[in-house]
Amino acid sequence: MKRILVTGGAGFLGSHLCARLLAEGQEVLCVDNFFTGRRRNIAGLLDHRNFEFLRHDVTFPLYVEVDEIYNLACPASPIHYQFDPVQTTKTSVIGAINMLGLAKRVRAKIFQASTSEVYGDPSVHPQPESYWGHVNTLGPRACYDEGKRCAETLFFDYHRQHQVRIKVARIFNTYGPNMNPQDGRVVSNFIVQALSNKPITLYGDGTQTRSFCYCDDLIEGFRRLMDSGPEITGPINLGNPGEFTMRQLAETILDLTGSTSSIVHEPLPMDDPRQRQPDITLAREKLGWEPTIALKAGLVRTIAYFEALLAEGV
Ligand code: NAD
Ligand code: UDP
Repeated sequence: MKRILVTGGAGFLGSHLCARLLAEGQEVLCVDNFFTGRRRNIAGLLDHRNFEFLRHDVTFPLYVEVDEIYNLACPASPIHYQFDPVQTTKTSVIGAINMLGLAKRVRAKIFQASTSEVYGDPSVHPQPESYWGHVNTLGPRACYDEGKRCAETLFFDYHRQHQVRIKVARIFNTYGPNMNPQDGRVVSNFIVQALSNKPITLYGDGTQTRSFCYCDDLIEGFRRLMDSGPEITGPINLGNPGEFTMRQLAETILDLTGSTSSIVHEPLPMDDPRQRQPDITLAREKLGWEPTIALKAGLVRTIAYFEALLAEGV
């Protein structure tokens, strides 16, 4: 049995990862400051004999003994990471320094939840790991994009300088149960709006694209990357190459929910990437991984989750 630290463990992805690790028979230490995460996401895990929760902010040092670390702590939705941009950069950068320092001290293997945002508004399509990106250092998304880019730099410097064993995943848009209904990301917004028959807020003309991965597929990718041989450090793209416009996404959700909602246009946020699709050649070759759940199938499961949540009045 390994003792595994998951930072951001009460969030959307973190809660799925904690559940998966417990199911594998591991011991899990979940750390979160509840900025965007929720007690509800880990409520079903609290009684598990191998689960421990610690309320802690990763911008402060943490002294624990663990074998592996998954560093997921960071708000992921533009609305939330732009709410306190200085704290967002601190979480990514100081959080990475603290977790890498911990990994170095206890000789733990460490995984970083990096992002497709390191590619910015990409001029190469689809995006391979070799693409250096196109990021506005001064815009409203920079606190997140540049924070994550700097965290990648720190991971590779700790690896070269201190031989820390690192695994860096570049995650593309992922969705599923345990997303916060107030999260602000497109899939949760559209589903909650559709289920309440409120207008669907389509930003810009809706021709911008994203590629959506279902959470279970992504967590499988996390596990394969963490357990891969020492020669694999990443960065490695994890995402579903199926690419859709935001208008297509809105129409699919309206169709699947049978909603009477109208679509209303709102201004496109500044620096909103025009297109995004992962090139997952490397993940296929190195990890034997690729997504298995198509968008409609994943949306059906996610809609069922939000339906239950709304019925509870949460
Ligand atoms: P989320 O907002 O649901 O989860 C993030 C968690 O981190 C929350 O529980 C939050 O409370 C916690 N957190 C934030 N700041 C913290 C701090 N200073 N100290 C301790 N905990 C803190 O988002 P998510 O979708 O689960 O994302 C998890 C990770 O994956 C993030 O690092 C995110 O950048 C990355 N990621 C996610 C996606 C996606 O589509 N879901 C895409 C790319 C990258
Ligand atoms: N978006 C939208 N309506 C919403 C929320 C988001 O049209 O209510 C658009 C947003 O402009 C972007 C895409 O959906 O083009 C994905 O946005 P999200 O915030 O989910 O993630 P990110 O931009 O970080 O990929």
